[in-house]
Amino acid sequence: MSQAERSFLKAAFHGVIAEELLAHFPKLPPEQAPEVERVLAVLTDLGRAGQQPEPTVDGELPEGWLDAVAQAGLFGTMIPKQYGGLGLGRLADARIHEALGRLDPALAITVGAHSGLATTALMRAGTKAQQSRLLPSMARGDRLAAFALTEPGMGSDAAATETHAELATDGGGYVLHGHKLWVTNGGRAELVVVFARTTPADRDRKPALTAFLVEPAPGVQVGPEIAKVGVRGASTTSLRLDHARVPADALLGALGRGFMIAVEALNEGRIQVAARCLGVARRALERATERALSRHAFGRPLAGFQMVQERLADQAAQVYALQCMCTLTAGLADSGMPDYSLESAACKVFGSETALAVTDSALRIAGGVGYIEGQGWERAVRDARADLLLEGTNEVMRAFIALSGMRSPGAQMVAVERAMREPIKGFGVLSDFALSRARSVLGRERLSVAHPLLKREAVHLEEAIGGLGAAADRLLRRYGPDIAEEQMILGRIADAAIQIWALAATLSRTTAALVQSGEGGAARELALAGSFGELAHRRIQRALGELDDEADDLRVHVADELCQAGGRLPSLP
Ligand SMILES: Cc1cc2nc3c(=O)[nH]c(=O)nc-3n(C[C@H](O)[C@H](O)[C@H](O)COP(=O)(O)OP(=O)(O)OC[C@H]3O[C@@H](n4cnc5c(N)ncnc54)[C@H](O)[C@@H]3O)c2cc1C
Repeated sequence: MSQAERSFLKAAFHGVIAEELLAHFPKLPPEQAPEVERVLAVLTDLGRAGQQPEPTVDGELPEGWLDAVAQAGLFGTMIPKQYGGLGLGRLADARIHEALGRLDPALAITVGAHSGLATTALMRAGTKAQQSRLLPSMARGDRLAAFALTEPGMGSDAAATETHAELATDGGGYVLHGHKLWVTNGGRAELVVVFARTTPADRDRKPALTAFLVEPAPGVQVGPEIAKVGVRGASTTSLRLDHARVPADALLGALGRGFMIAVEALNEGRIQVAARCLGVARRALERATERALSRHAFGRPLAGFQMVQERLADQAAQVYALQCMCTLTAGLADSGMPDYSLESAACKVFGSETALAVTDSALRIAGGVGYIEGQGWERAVRDARADLLLEGTNEVMRAFIALSGMRSPGAQMVAVERAMREPIKGFGVLSDFALSRARSVLGRERLSVAHPLLKREAVHLEEAIGGLGAAADRLLRRYGPDIAEEQMILGRIADAAIQIWALAATLSRTTAALVQSGEGGAARELALAGSFGELAHRRIQRALGELDDEADDLRVHVADELCQAGGRLPSLP
């Protein structure tokens, strides 16, 4: 692994603990804290107005909310001050998105599609002229933005994009044709980042995708609002491009660079997704706890029964871990860590699944009232489901985490094979490889930055990373590039990696709390870290222990047969 791709999880796939990345648990920079406090106060005020039992009418954002968040600067949190934005970092932005998720996930998604996806794309790939023209109105929220990648025929597979762009015959700009689907903010946006192929359709070649800045113009038709299961206050529409002409300066980034622009924006957007999931999960946990204390059954509060306690404790441990991983990922991204794609994907998967589990658990603790509309419990579950698929479905994210994580050890093996043919030239490669092999053979790497009171959890992490490195090594030797087809194994490898990042972040934060407040002052953190450590340890052991599950072939067979039978089971004898 090169220095340029330094990432905790990529190192973990080599069996290496990049512990320097855990040594300083991030804090909000003091100069950004007052701005964050001010924004959070605005959101708290919005929430206070008519919050019980549901924060808003389901299906629309309350009147005045979009204006209020625009005035507070939420549409330009990370836009530099020179363009009228708040100039905050990702950690500050994550705090704000946590508060948005707590207030109303539909509002959070509205702000996120604008600021996490569209604005990021423009800030990363736009020219100075494009940025000067567009960013000020985007920061004010006068010009809401959207991000249109998905199409009727493809969501996860960007290579299947059919929307295409051609150079206008007079050479002045491009003409776009196509149909985009489920565009968040579609009904409100005045700027859409549209991804279109700029090479001819060819089944055997990946298309060159290009990003365009599309503004209202003839041929750009926004469809009606699409009814959804949850996050109903967010606008979701289709977008038709019918000979839509855009000027030459609508090209965002270089021709053919659209895929990378989308990937980078999504990497960044996933930190926001995880942060809003944290807000959703914290609110649900608080409501569930209030209910468990106030509702009595069999002469005592629900919170006095161990089955309820188990539920509350496990959810609290997970939410604590989610808070740790969001904070650490955002902080490392702010500190200039060049590659946080695996960590942000891990946060997104862990965050969305935690938010769904906690909202569902809250609904169960609420009992019958949980299943009644208008009380907020069922709506929280419906809203939380969206994040399982937004910005990359969790299945696709798991495949991405596992395959990207194994790419570097895989490449190392190719380099080793080459070096063995030229042993003198390849000496460096061989000794690096020998070192990492020796680590996996001789035992685990040590983690020295964790507080001594976290010894047990630190050992769990050391063993887990050793296990992940050894598993990656073994799988690559056994399957080579064919590992990409072994999706059940990839899912388990990714599960282990996701828990590893959650555990590492938990250790980093809890160590910081212990250093700051001592054992007495950080007793709750210590208990939560211990509780999460056990959960994560069991999950990692299960994932790595069952990597080559003998039942996998049988599952493939059963699924094939089911597909052949049109989904029908055999008849009763
Ligand atoms: C409310 C909402 C808002 C949205 N906002 C936007 C937006 O603003 N911009 C935008 O571009 N898109 C947006 N989307 C689209 C969203 O990103 C896609 O729905 C998502 O990426 C999944 O794509 P798909 O629906 O085509 O599912 P598919 O790709 O058809 O996937 C269906 C199922 O198959 C699984 N699957 C697919 N491929 C694989 C694989 N290789 N391995 C294993 N499993 C696989 C998936 O995980 C999923 O479970 C939005 C969607 C919704 C519902």
